[in-house]
Amino acid sequence: MGCCTNHGDNAGRSTGPFAEGRELVEFVYQAHGGALRNKPLPGGGLVTVCQGCGTGFNLTTFVGKCPACGGVHAVSPPRSNDAANIQFAGAGYQLPEA
Ligand SMILES: [Zn+2]
Repeated sequence: MGCCTNHGDNAGRSTGPFAEGRELVEFVYQAHGGALRNKPLPGGGLVTVCQGCGTGFNLTTFVGKCPACGGVHAVSPPRSNDAANIQFAGAGYQLPEA
């Protein structure tokens, strides 16, 4: 995995609200000391399709899991108006639960 990025994923581009994939998921998960991840998305959530298994579901919080496969998805506040901005942490990814 990690073979197919074609937009300069190198030094100088790390975590932040505009990161992608797992980096974005981890950024949102840890944002505000962990307070952001369970906050409801404005507008009642974003209807999306799991990027792991293809099941449609409604992402209702900034970090959420696919109900079918448990795939972790997240969106950052500046981009939470569009389901196209939802990032997927990757198949088999587990959140760093305390
Ligand atoms: Zn899934």
